[in-house]
Amino acid sequence: MKIKCPKCKGNAELESDFSYVTCQKCNLEMSYGEYVKYVAHHDITYSDILGDYAGSTEGQTAGTLDEWD
Ligand SMILES: [Zn+2]
Repeated sequence: MKIKCPKCKGNAELESDFSYVTCQKCNLEMSYGEYVKYVAHHDITYSDILGDYAGSTEGQTAGTLDEWD
């Protein structure tokens, strides 16, 4: 089953028995337990620190750079 890779945001693969998560794009390999912890940790990090930052800069990056040039 396809899931979002917590590392590269690509398509990771979750084994059908929920035992293992792998991502061919960034060679991620971790148990599902580790994956859950990884995602939980990063979700907290992103929502607390990067959530607003990423949301506010993502749409501006291209236009802002163009304007500065
Ligand atoms: Zn990946």
